[in-house]
Amino acid sequence: MISLIIPCFNEQDALPYFYSEICKILDQMREEYELIFVDDGSTDKTLITIKLFAENNKNVVYFSLSRNFGKEAAMYAGFCNARGEYVAVMDADMQDPPCLLPEMLHILKEKEVDSVATRRISRDGEPLLRSWFAKQFYKIINRISDADIVDGARDFRLMKKDMVNAIVKMGEYNRFSKGIFGWVGFKTYWISFENVERIAGRTKWNFWKLFKYALDGIINFSQMPLSIASWLGIGMTGVSVIILLILIFRRLYFGDPVAGWASIVCIIIFLGGLQLFCLGVIGQYIAKLYMESKNRPHYIIADTNQEQIEKIG
Ligand code: UDP
Ligand code: MG
Repeated sequence: MISLIIPCFNEQDALPYFYSEICKILDQMREEYELIFVDDGSTDKTLITIKLFAENNKNVVYFSLSRNFGKEAAMYAGFCNARGEYVAVMDADMQDPPCLLPEMLHILKEKEVDSVATRRISRDGEPLLRSWFAKQFYKIINRISDADIVDGARDFRLMKKDMVNAIVKMGEYNRFSKGIFGWVGFKTYWISFENVERIAGRTKWNFWKLFKYALDGIINFSQMPLSIASWLGIGMTGVSVIILLILIFRRLYFGDPVAGWASIVCIIIFLGGLQLFCLGVIGQYIAKLYMESKNRPHYIIADTNQEQIEKIG
């Protein structure tokens, strides 16, 4: 059986297109399947739409979260409750083309791999600034973390059950799936496709949200910022010792005409800023630690058409 997990947050416009397309393709594939719609606290008619699907199709499973927990939590709820031997996550807006599924399943069955992942090779239709920042993010995170994160990788990938179990085991509260997929390893086959624009509705990500998501990714998968903070400290101490020696030398040999106070103020502000910056970096990690130590559930399911599921996980 194939389980498809579809996180939906205010997707009433896109869902009908997605549903008819995915049903067409699954029917062609002649595989047993379940469509797991995770309603991530939508405020529009998303849940009603999904319930309509479920009335007419017994393969439709839905979970409605008690509020908007974010896509990562919605995906996790899906992973925890997927029953299929093969599991995939798909966006509801058709940006993860359903037509790739048959090929992905074929590769998974034929080749000796545990997952088939997708990446987009273009970012057409996306704001230029956003593309540029995305590129820089992938460059940086691959240099400083040990999770292998591919540029343009989508969350859309078909995985075998073993890999899904590993992902569920990674119960961290601050989830960054692109990193988690890479971290758990397993053999992955990559297929590429040209970017597809969202079919209806609006993106849930603005620039600022994406920027914060990228920073979270770095903090979750690398300790490099902490090292940078300590190296900056050591570097500045070194520089100050050198300056001190120069000053002593100048005092002894040339006397000491009164120098401007402006330079001193600059130095104080510079060092103060640097200290606050490093404290901020440490603070970011402590904040993560704090959330992690509370051990709160990732999601809470308020409504579903299934009986035996993990309602809180
Ligand atoms: N999504 C979600 N919860 C959120 C935000 C987004 O479940 O808080 C879902 C959304 O419904 C969609 C997928 O995540 O199915 C990707 O979102 P979107 O298309 O807005 O992101 P983009 O493709 O623009 O990066
Ligand atoms: Mg999208």
